[in-house]
Amino acid sequence: MNSFKYMRLILGDQLNINHSWYRQPEPDVLYVIAELHQESTYVKHHIQKLCGFFAAMESFAKQLRSENHHVLHLTLDDTCQYKDLTDLIIDLCDQYSIQHFEYQHPDEYRLALQLEQLKLEFNRTITCCDTEHFYLKNHEFEQYLKPHKHNRMESFYRKMRKRFNVLMDGDNPAGGQWNFDAENRHKLKPNDIEKIPQPLLFANDVSKILQRINKHSIATIGIAKSELIWPINRQQSLQLLSYFCDQCLPLFGRFQDAMTCETDHKWSLFHARISFALNSKMLQPMEVIDTAIKQYEAKQSGIDLAQIEGFIRQIIGWREYIRGMYWINMPDYKELNQLNAKNPLPDYFWTGNTKMNCVKNAIDQSLEYAYAHHIQRLMVTGNFAMLAGIDPDVVDEWYLGIYIDAIEWVELPNTRGMSQFADGGLIATKPYAASGSYINKMGDYCKHCNYQVKEKYTENACPFNSLYWHFMNRHSKKFSNNPRTAMVYRNWNKMDSEIRQKTLEKAQQVLANLENI
Ligand code: FAD
Ligand code: SF4
Repeated sequence: MNSFKYMRLILGDQLNINHSWYRQPEPDVLYVIAELHQESTYVKHHIQKLCGFFAAMESFAKQLRSENHHVLHLTLDDTCQYKDLTDLIIDLCDQYSIQHFEYQHPDEYRLALQLEQLKLEFNRTITCCDTEHFYLKNHEFEQYLKPHKHNRMESFYRKMRKRFNVLMDGDNPAGGQWNFDAENRHKLKPNDIEKIPQPLLFANDVSKILQRINKHSIATIGIAKSELIWPINRQQSLQLLSYFCDQCLPLFGRFQDAMTCETDHKWSLFHARISFALNSKMLQPMEVIDTAIKQYEAKQSGIDLAQIEGFIRQIIGWREYIRGMYWINMPDYKELNQLNAKNPLPDYFWTGNTKMNCVKNAIDQSLEYAYAHHIQRLMVTGNFAMLAGIDPDVVDEWYLGIYIDAIEWVELPNTRGMSQFADGGLIATKPYAASGSYINKMGDYCKHCNYQVKEKYTENACPFNSLYWHFMNRHSKKFSNNPRTAMVYRNWNKMDSEIRQKTLEKAQQVLANLENI
């Protein structure tokens, strides 16, 4: 067996080919990239998510080999004998007479802790370096965000735009305005629906990976497909980015919050679907922003400032902010349950078997594609789980498992914080709670639903309506003095007392019958 001086670990979400590690082949470095049982089972993943990561890891290993690096790519077959990642690293270091072990800082707290503890386990030198992916370095979070406090995303975003000179005109935002959010809330009209582009899908053969997952009895969720539609290498990731800039960006901001069930492309709309490519680091956020801005500046691109601003805000704003909030608040963040929500997750989250058309659409497509767009995650499934008082631990587990892009650093603050308000307002200034009228305003689900969106307490009333008022009522101590929700309580108090009573009784019935709605 060859011996090497250095071993470098590449985690499944560290597929950044532009990392300085790979500048030139080094004969005494062995790279290790491994499918692991511990990573496949710490939550029940969507089968397409496992296939996506494993296929992307395999093609990354191939690319490194083609550039003359020494790479050990291990499959589940090779690693099943090891208890966990630590066990694997220790054994490989012995086998290859490794003197120095190196890794890139994991983005998940769980893995960072595990690798940190490696120091106690063996007597080689260990170096941890940056992933060279994000705008902000880990040591910079505290310059921007305060732990255990509410931090406004908008202030963070402005600082980031200034510092990295993105869409700026000197010291001022391009066009004189930082944020065009108000222009990004349009519903799709019938002639807009016709403009939704067909999504660019790949057909990556993952049949061997599927066999391995079955062979090792890894429990998964979602629909298995032997041809994976998601990008698994850099070339495909760049293709997807370019397709988005050409086809979707001109209307991205405008319909960012819209929902529909009236077209085959209802699941993708004008969204980029680049989150998997970004989170696995096949794409870099800087190149995403640069490419999008170049396209915006190109003659006749048809992209206006509101669209490009709406997009770059997601990447340099939300994505970086969420990551910072995760790191400055972990590990306590994972335990927060400020609304004391305790209910179990209804079974239809795993099957889509519900009469609520909006929830059904969001869950069905999540099971089919391992994807739902932001407003489905936030205002349909997330909103419903919060109104129904579902325990944030199980809500987190669901989100962490089901989406192709779900990695804890980004899933957790979005779910526990933004969508469930379980952090008591570290991220959001008010809960993203809404009745059926919001869902009706932003989409066409209600037209095709068994329930009546305008009804609060009648037999066929939309469950979101009574649950919404019940939620606001049971948390009135927390929210009635909040300037952003005070109006809701004024409206509630103005309502006829009999209607209020019936609405609360209806909500009790819905809550008692949560599995069957
Ligand atoms: P687009 O709508 O086209 O946006 C472009 C990119 O902006 C995304 O790819 C993403 O990188 C970034 N972005 C947009 N919003 C956010 C956000 N709130 N936080 C971080 N990045 C953002 N995103 C994940 O990447 N992984 C998750 O596990 C995840 N879980 C979520 C859970 C909940 C409850 C909610 C409400 C949101 C979650 N998000 C998550 C954020 C967002 O929904 C997804 O990033 C987005 O839907 C991915 O699809 P897209 O690439 O088509 O995004
Ligand atoms: Fe969803 Fe209610 Fe509309 Fe049905 S009526 S789609 S449950 S919001």
